[in-house]
Amino acid sequence: MSQARFTSCIPLPLEEKTLVGVIEKAKDWALMHGVGMRDKKNFTKDAIQIAPFVLLPSPFPRTEFNKAVELQQVLNELMHKVAHNDDFLEHTLQNALQVDEFTANLYEIWVKVRKEGIAQTLSLGLFRSDYLMQQPDGNKIKQVEFNTIASSFGAISSNLPAMNRYILRQLGCGDLIKNMPENKALSGLCSGIIEAYDLFGVPGSVALFVVEEVSYNICDQRFHEFEISETRPDIIIYRKTLNEIFEETSLNDKKQLMLDDKVVAVVYYRSGYEPAQYPSQREWDARLRVEQSTAIKCPSIHYQLAGTKKVQQALAAPGALEQFLGAGAISGRVRDIFTGLYSLDFDDSGERAVEMALADAERFVLKPQREGGGNNLYGADIREALLRMRHSRERAAYILMERILPPLVSGYVVRPGGPVPPPLTDLVSELGIFGVIIGSKDKIYSNRQVGHMLRTKLADANEGGVAAGLGALDSPYLLDL
Ligand code: ADP
Ligand code: MG
Repeated sequence: MSQARFTSCIPLPLEEKTLVGVIEKAKDWALMHGVGMRDKKNFTKDAIQIAPFVLLPSPFPRTEFNKAVELQQVLNELMHKVAHNDDFLEHTLQNALQVDEFTANLYEIWVKVRKEGIAQTLSLGLFRSDYLMQQPDGNKIKQVEFNTIASSFGAISSNLPAMNRYILRQLGCGDLIKNMPENKALSGLCSGIIEAYDLFGVPGSVALFVVEEVSYNICDQRFHEFEISETRPDIIIYRKTLNEIFEETSLNDKKQLMLDDKVVAVVYYRSGYEPAQYPSQREWDARLRVEQSTAIKCPSIHYQLAGTKKVQQALAAPGALEQFLGAGAISGRVRDIFTGLYSLDFDDSGERAVEMALADAERFVLKPQREGGGNNLYGADIREALLRMRHSRERAAYILMERILPPLVSGYVVRPGGPVPPPLTDLVSELGIFGVIIGSKDKIYSNRQVGHMLRTKLADANEGGVAAGLGALDSPYLLDL
């Protein structure tokens, strides 16, 4: 099927000389304002290079953008309630837990901490709900996934619009800037960390960011630190890997997490969402220690479990949303953003899903219980995997999702080391809306929508991870269709 195309914010292509000139300006702007990443091939802490970005803001329908923004609080609350419903989590994850060791390890920590007695009832969620537009369905947004851990690009996405605005002005199109929505994701996300810190309420306590061994996406983490330090000079932030947390922290008799003789108030995970980040038992022990502590976790382990693909699929089953959101209009509005999601359990509906996918694999995406990009299967790989797993319990760890077919936009993707000028290419955009929630099982203290990100990839790429080098950061240009 041919995909419809949105009109770009200004007529493209640009004349080559103009294009080369503005790309040079854009790259310098990006480097000087933290639209950057560390070089994976020649890693050094002494330099950053540009993060891949789209030169001009990409078109996105205003009504659908607003819809996503308006739904965020509802989705925050939904995930908060799911995370606090032990029966739902257990029932939903039970089959996957038998075959997926990673999810099982997380779940085991959750069970253990519950048995011991929860030392911190508050959780902090810095969430991001991701959407593609479904073109055959009138370009309505459909949820791709809901991230509850290490939701990234709040910082770079807050920096980037000013670059797009600068370029539009340089092209003599400054009047278009009015169609670019304000994005305060960075300060919004940081306000969540600060609020959790204040709720913790121990003077002199510190915040701890859990980071990877090597952070390529360093701008997107450091800006949070800079922002918090600027707004709240009293809050000291540590960055530690799980292995360092194993080595350097302890629990005192009040179950406070101690680091350098200081009490840790908030633990913010920018790592810990994929198996490779737990290379040994030490990392799992560190995770358990943090969960056992009084520190407010972002996310707590039950938030992380609520963010699994399996939970997303279970929420699409008849009656599930109503269980959490009631039978009214709100459930209908959320259901509207779901696309077909199917379990692959060993029952009638699971068998039907396998048949459906084998008959027309192109219509679907096959997803394991993983985060971080690059794990899903498409097209012929789905057939192959399902034929292999058909009679194996392994298949219960996957979900089947209808493939969303987004409309095309044209644009220039600027990459480090990429061609100058870059070719004008067909792209598709994925919108992410950020949310902050803080609460316990019985009380929600804060719940808000705090900003957005747009990530754009080549139209023929299956996935668009920016850190993985496939996608590019972008800003929405709102269209009144
Ligand atoms: P991850 O947790 O690895 O980020 P996602 O569910 O977000 O997993 O999938 C990764 C990427 O795959 C998405 O950003 C999107 O580009 C693509 N993708 C995922 N689900 C779909 C879908 N149903 N239809 C089309 N593309 C999808
Ligand atoms: Mg994703």
